[in-house]
Amino acid sequence: MIRADLHLHTTYSSDSSIQPKTLVEKLVAHDFIKVAAVTDHDTVSGYNAIRQLAAAYPDILIIPGAEISTPNGDIVVLGAEEMPPQPWTVASVVDFARDTDCVSVVVHPYREWGMGDLARNYKFDAVEVLNGASPPSANKLARDLAKLMGLPGVAGSDAHQPAELCTVYTEIQASLDVDEVLKAVKKGLVTVPPPRKSIHF
Ligand SMILES: [Zn+2]
Repeated sequence: MIRADLHLHTTYSSDSSIQPKTLVEKLVAHDFIKVAAVTDHDTVSGYNAIRQLAAAYPDILIIPGAEISTPNGDIVVLGAEEMPPQPWTVASVVDFARDTDCVSVVVHPYREWGMGDLARNYKFDAVEVLNGASPPSANKLARDLAKLMGLPGVAGSDAHQPAELCTVYTEIQASLDVDEVLKAVKKGLVTVPPPRKSIHF
């Protein structure tokens, strides 16, 4: 079993101050979170740089991805090493994820940039049921949505500053391998423990 922060931003997002090196150092030093998905806004550019830095440490894993802005709300695509063709709509991004063996996640559905109940109309692979930057009420609604849609729930810090990294995490029944992690999420082999300080759950 591995523990992963499945939503965070690096300096490849214009609104984040987390240097790639800082992310790698955080995972190396962390007692039990050894996996992170890099989900910058509308770009996958950070992944190669971060993967190279991480390659020196066999006990950590970086998962490629992006948080894609659509007119109806944000979608995280886990596993993406390239961006989907534009224009980005909910349907086109979900289709892209399915066709490229990636994982589509409805993120923070009940706060700003979230798509709310509209998510029910699309074949997502998972719902972000715990977002480190969302209030408890929004995370509760996201958990209800996952239940309603019969989808696995995942957690991500949505960190934009170093101190926000790894505040929440997803437990995944997989080893340190990107494909295994993606397949496990799709199969629902995931658990989201409440955060230690239950401020966001
Ligand atoms: Zn985000």
